[in-house]
Amino acid sequence: MGLNWRYLAHEVRPEYLREALAGARRMNYIGLNLTVPHKVLAMDLVDVLDETAETWGAVNTVQFEGRDAKGQWRPLRDYEDAPAETRSRGFNTDADAIPRAIREDLALDLNGSKVLLLGAGGAGRTAALRLAAEGVRELWMVNRTTPKAAAIGEEIRNRYPQTNCHLGYPTGNVDLVINATSLGLAAGDCLPFEEREFPLDRAGAAFDMIYRPVETPFLRLARVCGRPAANGLAMLLYQGAKAFEIWTGQPALIGRMREALEANIYG
Ligand code: NAP
Repeated sequence: MGLNWRYLAHEVRPEYLREALAGARRMNYIGLNLTVPHKVLAMDLVDVLDETAETWGAVNTVQFEGRDAKGQWRPLRDYEDAPAETRSRGFNTDADAIPRAIREDLALDLNGSKVLLLGAGGAGRTAALRLAAEGVRELWMVNRTTPKAAAIGEEIRNRYPQTNCHLGYPTGNVDLVINATSLGLAAGDCLPFEEREFPLDRAGAAFDMIYRPVETPFLRLARVCGRPAANGLAMLLYQGAKAFEIWTGQPALIGRMREALEANIYG
């Protein structure tokens, strides 16, 4: 796209996140992405929260802004020389990537659907809230640490009362099962759910947030059961594409980004 920009990876300890954000601002970075375990911590560390970050309670994308001569805040990309006064604005591009990936990879309309969600960590919480906002009618949640799923259920009952939230496995069929646990990342990991509690042929489709390995035991089982299945690559792609659009102000080249991701992740 003719941008003389670089995207660099830095490993930062959570206790130094404040300093890292301040350093990036002082070095006039255009923006940055945050991943585990920084997304919730950053809510209190950025200067301004975009509506997306406020709604989903996590920041995965930061844009730096400068104040111009008229007192207006504008993205740093608009300036030839960075102004003296700058600030950070936090966004969340993860949440919208979830229904988009499910819609495009599995051709599934979540509105009015029944979903079993496995996992209630950071990604599980965002998924649960975003699915409820999308109009999922029945949502079952299963997590190793049940109180975490219960707390999310409570939040959904308050914010999205049209979604019926249940703890534990459904007794009947669901349209979709989502794995938002980290089970499947490591070789030899077990399934993220109890097959005797929920045989996978009761699910219409399977979505795993994990994208490496390309096929987890969960997705392999879905394939064996003849169920449509998708991994988390499109979710990763769409959150990145949205962040790219925030920083550049231009539409992302989704096809090129997908090719680059596939080449880098799967070789
Ligand atoms: P997290 O906050 O650390 O949550 C991890 C989740 O996995 C929790 O629900 C945890 O249960 C569960 N878990 C971990 N080890 C387990 C075990 N041995 N047995 C049962 N449950 C276990 O991580 P996260 O950010 O939510 O990420 C979750 C997954 O989503 C990861 O695999 C990550 O790679 C993937 N992800 C993908 C994308 C994407 O763009 N595709 C984006 C974000 C995350 P407890 O609550 O009981 O600890």
